[in-house]
Amino acid sequence: MAYDKTKYKIWNWKHPVMLHWMINPGLAINELILGQRVPKTMLIERVAGKSLEERTKIPCPHCGTLHGGHKWSIRNNAFRNWFGLYCDHCGNTIPCLTNLTSYLILLLTFPIWFWFKDSWKRKWIERQPERYKDIDSTHFSGPYDGYGWIRQGLYWGFFMYILATFLFPLIDGEAITLSKALYGILIWTIGGLCFGYTMKLIIRRRSDKKRTM
Ligand SMILES: [Zn+2]
Repeated sequence: MAYDKTKYKIWNWKHPVMLHWMINPGLAINELILGQRVPKTMLIERVAGKSLEERTKIPCPHCGTLHGGHKWSIRNNAFRNWFGLYCDHCGNTIPCLTNLTSYLILLLTFPIWFWFKDSWKRKWIERQPERYKDIDSTHFSGPYDGYGWIRQGLYWGFFMYILATFLFPLIDGEAITLSKALYGILIWTIGGLCFGYTMKLIIRRRSDKKRTM
């Protein structure tokens, strides 16, 4: 679909934020467990004085509706979007990017979920209209705004800690020692905070740059 490039900046997989979404292995947790998804195409309005979230539009390729990005903010439907972002205009799903680690996990576990995916998707679709009835469009704040990055970073660090300290050694048949478990807490707390702060900087730099344009 062609979009007005004078009005919108188009973000697709080539954009750094989107590439990061696909490459960072920790984000597989956001995708597979939390059901947080990033659409394949996002349009960022070229206007000054608005936050990035306010300027983000998500187009539905099926009906052409431009959805406000706030529909999938933390206050609204940021999570449980395992099958894509639901278009409450036409009832289809907006295609999303897939994180490479998620992709690998899905590929390896294919024989387990393959038989259930159709019925899961049907049930998921049935539940969607209800979730879009009371969308809060008055609050525009991202999950990394203010001190939100600390919480987001620690969540991420916690999941990575579980994954790296317990799950991966379990798969590899390595011993889980107390010292490794304790070191892990330190490493992933720092790692998580760095992750949260980097995300905040990436998002803020993008929105500041647009504001001065
Ligand atoms: Zn649609």
